[in-house]
Amino acid sequence: MLDLKNKVALVTGSGQGIGLAIAKRFASLGCQLVVNGLEEAEKLEEVRNGLVDEYGSKVISFRADVSKSDEVSDLYDVAIKEFGKVDIVVNNAGITRDNLILRMSEGDWDKVLEVNLKSAFLVSKRFIRAMLKLGRGRIINISSVVGQMGNAGQVNYSASKAGLIGFSKSLARELAGKKITVNAIAPGYIDTEMTEKIGDKAREALLSLIPLKRYGSREDIAGVAAFLASDFSDYITGQVIPVNGGMFM
Ligand code: NAD
Repeated sequence: MLDLKNKVALVTGSGQGIGLAIAKRFASLGCQLVVNGLEEAEKLEEVRNGLVDEYGSKVISFRADVSKSDEVSDLYDVAIKEFGKVDIVVNNAGITRDNLILRMSEGDWDKVLEVNLKSAFLVSKRFIRAMLKLGRGRIINISSVVGQMGNAGQVNYSASKAGLIGFSKSLARELAGKKITVNAIAPGYIDTEMTEKIGDKAREALLSLIPLKRYGSREDIAGVAAFLASDFSDYITGQVIPVNGGMFM
């Protein structure tokens, strides 16, 4: 049976959406958790309490901007103080600032690259310390189908998500000898607050491109993350797992 008993996981951006679904799935499998996001501390505490009530796992919440190295450093210190170790890191925090390139500001380019890509560098660099001490670990980076096939209006987002794929493969090679695996998940279109902004017409057009004829659910991603976090994926590293309903093959 797949379980994450006695494991500690950090899921960045787990205040809502896909990150929260991953946190719930991990907790349901016995994992202890560090919940993080940019939501107000009270909202994150609500999320924490919900996980504790429903699954009985030890959970802490910590508001930190994972694109800032000093805040990542604080996040690490709190996690180690509470749990003494971290086995699994899911780099999930992400944002969009969509526009056609001619209308895209330099600020929106920088912001998306910082939150979606630089954060994975900062968090991995810091949390690998704990994994090196343990002699094992799992890093799971949430990329996107858009990083694989591109999308008009998202040069910043797709560059950040394609960057995460290269980052995952290089880091997988660096850490393989230390029994730390690094993989990416590339979700297709998933029903979350992020995709609520897409208009009805565009939603219909997108559906026609998905062979399985539905948007993905957060749970579709959470299941694959749980598999990658578990012992069942011991021999998988440097891979990109597409979870896109067949939209991109
Ligand atoms: P969401 O907007 O619902 O949630 C994003 C979470 O990230 C929130 O909890 C937010 O507080 C947090 N966050 C944002 N910036 C942060 C920062 N600087 N530091 C810490 N936390 C931060 O988004 P979602 O749809 O759940 O997406 C989660 C991830 O999945 C993102 O990386 C996104 O790019 C990726 N993704 C989503 C889809 C989709 O269709 N929804 C598809 C492919 C990939």
